[in-house]
Amino acid sequence: MIPLVSVAQKTTQSSVYKNPKVNSELRAKDLLSKMTLKEKIGQLNLVTYVNENNTTNKMDDKVKRGEVGSILKSNGAKNNLIIQKIAVEQTRLGIPIIFQEDVIHGYRTIFPVPLGESASWNLDRISETASIAAKEASAGGIRLTYAPMVDISHDPRWGRISEAAGEDPYYGSLVAAARVRGFQGTDLTSNTSLMACVKHYAGYGSALAGRDYNIDGFSERTLRETYLPPFKAAIDAGVGSLMSAYTAYDGIPASANSFLLKDILRNELGFKNMVITDWETTRNLMKIGVAANAEEAVKMSINSGVDVDMTSELFLKNLEKLVAKGEVKVATIDAAVLKVLKAKFDLGLFDNPYQYLDEKREKEVLLSKENLEIARKAARESMVLLKNKSNLLPIKNTVKNIAVIGPLATRQKDLMAWWGGQYSQGKSEEVITLLNGIKQRAGKDVNITYSEGIKLDGFEPKGLELIPEAVAQAQKADLIILAVGEEYWMSGESGSISNITLPGAQLQLLDALAQTGKPIVSVVFNGRPFDLNELSQKSDAVLEAWFPGTMGGLAVADVLFGDYNPSGKLTVTFPHNTGQIPIFYNYKRTSHDLDTVDMKHRFANNYLDITTKPLYEFGFGLSYTTFGYANLKINSSNNQQDGNITVSFDLKNAGNIDGTEVAQLYIRDKVSSVVRNVKDLEGFARVILKAGETKNVSITLTPKSFSFLNKDFKQVVEPGEFNLMIGSSSEDIRLKGNYFIK
Ligand code: BGC
Repeated sequence: MIPLVSVAQKTTQSSVYKNPKVNSELRAKDLLSKMTLKEKIGQLNLVTYVNENNTTNKMDDKVKRGEVGSILKSNGAKNNLIIQKIAVEQTRLGIPIIFQEDVIHGYRTIFPVPLGESASWNLDRISETASIAAKEASAGGIRLTYAPMVDISHDPRWGRISEAAGEDPYYGSLVAAARVRGFQGTDLTSNTSLMACVKHYAGYGSALAGRDYNIDGFSERTLRETYLPPFKAAIDAGVGSLMSAYTAYDGIPASANSFLLKDILRNELGFKNMVITDWETTRNLMKIGVAANAEEAVKMSINSGVDVDMTSELFLKNLEKLVAKGEVKVATIDAAVLKVLKAKFDLGLFDNPYQYLDEKREKEVLLSKENLEIARKAARESMVLLKNKSNLLPIKNTVKNIAVIGPLATRQKDLMAWWGGQYSQGKSEEVITLLNGIKQRAGKDVNITYSEGIKLDGFEPKGLELIPEAVAQAQKADLIILAVGEEYWMSGESGSISNITLPGAQLQLLDALAQTGKPIVSVVFNGRPFDLNELSQKSDAVLEAWFPGTMGGLAVADVLFGDYNPSGKLTVTFPHNTGQIPIFYNYKRTSHDLDTVDMKHRFANNYLDITTKPLYEFGFGLSYTTFGYANLKINSSNNQQDGNITVSFDLKNAGNIDGTEVAQLYIRDKVSSVVRNVKDLEGFARVILKAGETKNVSITLTPKSFSFLNKDFKQVVEPGEFNLMIGSSSEDIRLKGNYFIK
C-alpha cells in the first residue's frame, strides 16, 4: 500500500482533494487551503427550504452563491439531484451538499417508535431497522440522519421520551451503538448508508416537569452517570456527527458551552467529528437571554465548539464581521469547516455526488416486501404483554365473535408516531390498522365487528354517545379487543402532557365495556408510559403495542393469536400515577429503603397514599410461557489479567409453547465511597427457548460493570462485596449471589 502522504505529495497541488486515493483528512485540508473565507462560512450553513417565517427559501441561487453547506427537510431524489448539480457543477470548487433529515424510526417503511423498539432488547434487530431506514433514505439522496436520539429521561410527561431507548444508561448505550452501526454500516461511502448524528447533547431529557425545552438544574454527577454514557457509546461506535441540545447545563446553554463541547466532548470522549446545533439554536441564544444580539450569539456558539449552524443562518450573516473585528479566529472557522469537508469526503460525496440520487432505486427500495417483513418482526418483538389473566391470550380458536372497539383500531397515521406520521416519507394509507390486522389473521370463520366507541380527538372527552353501540356489539361477542392510547401528535417534540391518564373518553368507554362482563383484551398504542391502573384492573389482558409503525396491525395480530409469543420487556418504568414521576428503577439508595423497612412504617421511603413501587417496573414483560431460573454460578475468568467474571445459570422454558426470555443481571454495590443506585443493570441475555428446553446462559461482567464515578469523577472499582441479581425484571429477581472484589 502506498503511504497516503506520499500520494498527496506526488499529486499536483490543485488536484489533491479530487483524488479518491488520498484520505479524507488530507483531501479536506487541501480543499480548505483553496477556499475563501466566504466559501468556508457557506459550508457551516445548514439551511432548510422552509425558513422561520414559513416561506420557502430560494435554494438555487443560494447554492450557486456558495452559501449552503447542507440542506435539511429536502424533497426526494428528483429535487435533491437538481440542487446537487448546481452545487457540484456551478460553484467554483464544486463542493457537494449533504442532504440531512430526521430519519428517526424509518423513512418510508416505518418501524416502531424508538422507545417501543428498545423493549425488544434485540440489538441486532435494532441495528437492522436502522440499516433499512438508511437504505431507503439514501435512495432518496439523504446522507445524514438526526438520529439516534439517546436522551435518557425519567419523565413520561415529556413527549420526547418516545424517541430514545428508555431510562437506563447501560442499556441506552447499547442501543445507541446498535443504531449508529445500523445507520452507518461498515462503509459510509456505500449508497445504502447514512451518517448518524447522535443527539441532543447533553441533558435534554431532564426537561423540567416534562415540559419540552425547559431547563432543569442537574448535577455534574447526573450529567456523567445518566446523560453522557449513551453519547460515549455512540462516539465509540464511530458516530459521524453530533447535535447540541436546546437546553442548558449549569446555566450555560448546551450550544455555547465549552465545558460540554470542548472539555468533555473533545478531550474526554475523543469526539472528532462535526457538531451541529439543533434547529435555530444560535438564534435561541438571544431568546434564552444570554446573547444581546446575533453577533454575540454567533461568537459564543462557534467559540465554544459548535461547527454547523442549523437554520438560523446567523453564521452566514455574521462570521465575516466577527473575523474582521478579531472576535472569531479564522483558525476556529477552519477547524469547523475541516470537519464538514471531512464528512463530505467520508460520505463519498465528492467522488460520486449523484449515486445517491436515484429515482429508480428509490422506487425499488422504498417499502419493499423485505423491509415490511422486518418492520413486522420489529413491531411484534417490541410489544410487551402487561397482563394476561387466566391465560386469556393467545386467543383460542373457540372464540368465534370478536368485537374490535376503540378509535385507535382504525387509525393509520397515529401508528407511525410523531416523526413517522408528521415528517417521514411514510404514508398513512400504507399502515395496517389493528382492525385489518385482526381481520386478516382471524380469517372467515371468525365474525369481527367494529365500533369506534368514542371519538378520540384531543384530550377532551368526546363521542360519549357512541358508547351504547359499542356496548351492544360487545354483548354479542365472545371477546372484546379494545384499542386505546394516544394520537401521534400527543408525544414527540413539544408533546408534553401534565397528566398521564389516557386522553379523551377512553376510560369511560372501558368502564362501560367492563360492565358487560365480556373478556377484554386492551391494546395500547402510545409513545410514552401511561397510567394504566384502571385499564389493567378492568381488562383481562393488556398488550403494550407502542406506536408500532407500518405493519402495526399485523404485528398485534401475530401476538394476540399466538403466532408470536410476546417477549418485549419495558425499558421504562410505568408509574401508578402522575404524582410518582419521576420514577425509575435505578434510583439512589436511601436510608429508608423498602427492603430494610416495613412498607407500612411511617418512616419508610414511601408516600403515605401510595407505594413507591411502580405499576409496571423496568424490565417487566409477560410471556405465554413461564421460565425457570436455577444453578447460579459466578466464576472469575481464567485470564486473571482482564478481571472479568462469568455469571452463568440455567434458564428453562417451563411451559409447552416456545418462547423468548430477556434475563437481566443487576448489581448492587454493598458499600461505596459515594451513594450508588439501589441496583444497576449490567448485563442481559435474550434467550430463545423451545417448549421444555433448558439452556445454560452466561453473561460476562468486566471491571467496568462494578465501577462507578468516585468523588473526583474518576471511574473506579472499590473493593468489597457486590450483590448480583438475575431477574425476569428489575423487581422479579430469581437468583442472587455475591461477589467479592479484593
Ligand atoms: C429537534 C431535533 C430535530 C431538528 C431538525 C428540532 O426541533 O429538536 O431533534 O432533529 O428539529 O428537524
